[in-house]
Amino acid sequence: KAKAGGRNNIQFFDATIQQAISRRSHIEHGLKQAISRHELRLYYQPQVDSNGTMFGVEALLRWQKANGELVSPEQFIPVAEESGLINEIGLWVLQQACRQLVSWQQSSQTQALSIAINVSARQFLRSNYAAEVLYELTQSGARGERLKLELTESAVLQDVDAAKQKILQLKAVGVQFSLDDFGTGYSSLAYLKQLPVDQVKIDRSFVKDVTDNSGDAAIVEAILGICDSLALEAIAEGVETATQRDFLLQHGCGNFQGFFFSKPLPIEELMATFFPHSD
Ligand code: C2E
Ligand code: MG
Ligand code: MG
Ligand code: MG
Repeated sequence: KAKAGGRNNIQFFDATIQQAISRRSHIEHGLKQAISRHELRLYYQPQVDSNGTMFGVEALLRWQKANGELVSPEQFIPVAEESGLINEIGLWVLQQACRQLVSWQQSSQTQALSIAINVSARQFLRSNYAAEVLYELTQSGARGERLKLELTESAVLQDVDAAKQKILQLKAVGVQFSLDDFGTGYSSLAYLKQLPVDQVKIDRSFVKDVTDNSGDAAIVEAILGICDSLALEAIAEGVETATQRDFLLQHGCGNFQGFFFSKPLPIEELMATFFPHSD
């Protein structure tokens, strides 16, 4: 009986893996089509300072299928990373962001806005990554100072020296760096000290209950303390309420992003909402 049960378990296990594999290859196939059919779009989420003034945006990828359905990056980014499609997608994101920056550079109302883009570890770890960014900045005419690259700990920890070199090469033309999802990875403080990044992004998972969970509050306060000591800027992500914003503000965090201010928006909506009189 036990043996039969064991066999069933193995079969069940096989079937689950089979399903996962076919789901992945299904998404991968769809993603290749999405690229060729131009179904990828960038949404832009405002980032604001302590006065509530928008100083920039984070570009967030969306896959809008022909039937209008929006696919979340949480579903397709991991597949894009494993298949290597992320390099092509990431380049497209960079090019789009540069084009948007150039367009914003034309108007006094928008010329100070920055765009933060997410860079996967697999992209950043390529030896020609910095050269690729430099090339796109030059080609497009976008100012390096307006571009911010969001890296995760997994992108920088594998080879801290190589990461440092790439960061410095891009910082030389003004590009800024942010450590995304801070606090969720290994968060080695030794590497944080070594990395020439400008900003730390406090992960939304700590912000969520910051006002009613003393553990989360302690973590957020500790991160803000480290940022202060190391002269790093902090930005909180996932700010959904005024109470969260006020707590963060009182503890020294002066930059925010979250649904309380705005959800990510298509460019037309962003412009209509925040710059209704531009053009
Ligand atoms: P992330 O970089 O940490 O982006 C923040 C995520 O939090 C976004 O999810 C955003 O829509 C969401 N968010 C912002 N404010 C709030 C809030 O107040 N409440 C809640 N509940 N959520 C909020 P999104 O757009 O689904 O993106 C998920 C992740 O996918 C991103 O996390 C990033 O890791 C990845 N991603 C998105 N675009 C790209 C891209 O162009 N390239 C790469 N490599 N990864 C990307
Ligand atoms: Mg991000
Ligand atoms: Mg984040
Ligand atoms: Mg996050």
